[in-house]
Amino acid sequence: MRLIIMGPPGAGKGTQGERLAEAFGIPRLSTGDMIRAALKAGTELGEQVREYYEAGKLVPDEVVLGLIAEAFDEPRSENGFLLDGFPRTVPQADGLGDLLRERDLTLDAVLSLEVPDEELVERISGRRVCSNCESVTHLSALGDSGECPECGGKLIQRSDDQAETVRTRLAVYRDETEPLLAYYAKAVGLTSVVGTGAVDDIQASLVAALEGVGAK
Ligand code: AMP
Repeated sequence: MRLIIMGPPGAGKGTQGERLAEAFGIPRLSTGDMIRAALKAGTELGEQVREYYEAGKLVPDEVVLGLIAEAFDEPRSENGFLLDGFPRTVPQADGLGDLLRERDLTLDAVLSLEVPDEELVERISGRRVCSNCESVTHLSALGDSGECPECGGKLIQRSDDQAETVRTRLAVYRDETEPLLAYYAKAVGLTSVVGTGAVDDIQASLVAALEGVGAK
């Protein structure tokens, strides 16, 4: 199974992508996670992209294409993958097409999670990440302790989740990434799902939508 999950920042791509990837036994390839890992480790690539990341801007296309090409050739991607947060521009989508063609692969479906802007801002500003186990939670779901519900670790805010940067990221999404919905509607077919409501219900809608397009 080879899937893309698309949607604006805060739409739930990470949460739903992780669940779908687990259900299908495929890795979730998240360029955002790869970039955060490089930043944390202080690698050369991390230093090269830090400024873009902190400002909420897109890192150069060739950087993410390189990360994805590497991930495609890892043994874990042998039976497929779910792409989360990639592609984000038309040149990235073209580059992805080339990478797939070179490997004789095709996409089974492109999923789009739809969430209104007001809810995106509310979700992102309340998002917290565990500094220990990296699980993602929302302030509204926390008990009085304010600790990670999974492991009791310290929760922190992602450096690009501050209000100002969130506005930039939403604008970048509208300008650079949203045009990909029409691109994929034409090239592969787009499977759109309402991304509001209970997490379990959204997951069920995604699975049903995949069945509906014969991708399960
Ligand atoms: P995400 O975790 O997917 O929201 O990505 C966080 C940040 O990582 C973005 O705001 C960009 O700075 C960078 N990033 C992640 N994926 C990409 C991509 N496909 N193209 C360019 N920049 C990306």
